Amino acid sequence: MSSGTHHHEVDNSLAGKVRHNTQVHAQRCYQCGKCSAGCPLSADMDYPPSLVLRMLQTGDPVLEDKILRSYTIWVCLSCEMCIQRCPMEVDIPVMMDYLRQESIRQKKVNPKAKNIVSFHKSFLDSIKYTGRLFEFGLVVDYKMRSWKMFQDITLMPGMISRGKLHFIPERIKGIKNISNIFTKVSKEDKK
Ligand code: SF4
Ligand code: SF4
Repeated sequence: MSSGTHHHEVDNSLAGKVRHNTQVHAQRCYQCGKCSAGCPLSADMDYPPSLVLRMLQTGDPVLEDKILRSYTIWVCLSCEMCIQRCPMEVDIPVMMDYLRQESIRQKKVNPKAKNIVSFHKSFLDSIKYTGRLFEFGLVVDYKMRSWKMFQDITLMPGMISRGKLHFIPERIKGIKNISNIFTKVSKEDKK
């Protein structure tokens, strides 16, 4: 039987939606584990990236629900270490981005990810309120700095294991500071 289908069946599985919206084929993954081994944040995830792929492959709605409620999808920083190592070129960062959107859409956001989500919200609200691009610059600057910090960390071989994972609290603290700046800016505008 050919794997291609000529009648347009709708694949309602989460893997099907991922494939339809991002062209990432979870079924290509053969579970070599290189992505999880190389992911600098997998120790902080509830499911490492290769397990997310395995869960997607099953098409089991219970496991799909667990993915959308996972902390993993919010911990992923889109650093692309995984795809650099993947023999099948499974674009995990793009997949994670889609899973975050779907998690919000289905109201399944992990409670531990609240800070990250409220950051996105306050950013969007702030843009809506002021209609200026000033805040946008702040966010770009923030993202650049976290990326730089991330690179500095990964370039230090001795810190590749547990120690460097202080990065995540730092990141969340940074998010709070930015949110505070947003609040201040909004208040000052009202004066
Ligand atoms: S992109 Fe996400 S899943 Fe891939 S290595 Fe980076 S943090 Fe891990
Ligand atoms: S590296 Fe690629 S093939 Fe290997 S487990 Fe990860 S996604 Fe699957």
